[in-house]
Amino acid sequence: MEKLIIGSHVSFTKGSQLVGSVKEALSYGANTLMLYTGAPQNSNRLPLNEKLTEEGLKLMANNNIDKNNVIVHAPYIINPSNNKNLDFNVSFLKQEIDRVQKLGLSKLVMHPGSHVGLGIEEGIKNTIEVLNLSLKETDNIIICIETMAGKGTEIGFNFEQIREIINGVHLKDKIGVCLDTCHINDAGYNLSYFDEVLSEFEEIIGLDKLMCIHINDSKNVISAHKDRHDNFGLGTIGFENLISIIYHDKLKDIPKILETPYVGLEDIKDRLFPPYKFEIEMIKNKKFNSNLLNDIRDYYKNL
Ligand code: FE
Ligand code: FE
Ligand code: ZN
Repeated sequence: MEKLIIGSHVSFTKGSQLVGSVKEALSYGANTLMLYTGAPQNSNRLPLNEKLTEEGLKLMANNNIDKNNVIVHAPYIINPSNNKNLDFNVSFLKQEIDRVQKLGLSKLVMHPGSHVGLGIEEGIKNTIEVLNLSLKETDNIIICIETMAGKGTEIGFNFEQIREIINGVHLKDKIGVCLDTCHINDAGYNLSYFDEVLSEFEEIIGLDKLMCIHINDSKNVISAHKDRHDNFGLGTIGFENLISIIYHDKLKDIPKILETPYVGLEDIKDRLFPPYKFEIEMIKNKKFNSNLLNDIRDYYKNL
């Protein structure tokens, strides 16, 4: 059997916390997961319940989910590129670092953010500062800087900028990278030539830094600098390219996380269904399902 570490973004709710997240992942046929410990867009964070954490970790162990493959995503309100809210960024990131460790986990994905007019170099400098002020020697964590699409004033849209950030951080063993396929497509990397993209990554950053891959198709053409995710195989990157990234020999041990959009019904706008169960099925079968969206709607409509 080929090794495949696949999962998706799942929810983390007040009542069930990690237990609910793991159950959701299992319902998709996943063997890893990614969660936000609160809403991605705001700073409200509910206290972690130790019993639910313990139960969730046990559920993971019983289902062969390695906690080292589980990812936490930091909220977007942390914008390390812009130092207007430096104190907030640092205190919030420190809190997230604590929460990840309290959950028994070790990988935190963070966007380097947008410089909002300060310029790319300033943005990189600010990001380094936030990381250096937030990380402690005793933290048992790896913060994975995500590759961005270059939308607006986002930084981190090429491997050189990511390397510059890593170079400035003192505790380098606590820094990794999360590669997002939609983002790098939109940033200008051609995923039809993935081996070339990967060698570039190896040369500039090093494969040992790659800790997580966000698997998303893109609604936009290469270099669009847009960042709009599409469902697996339905976008401009396409099924074959995404499958060859997922099953790439050099990337076997790296968790792959889907962040593809929920699917709506044509007539009822507020009912949205997660695509992950069906996308993971396609990935396991390595066979494109041209009826993907309808299969998702049919399955969930009557649940
Ligand atoms: Fe992200
Ligand atoms: Fe992403
Ligand atoms: Zn994105």
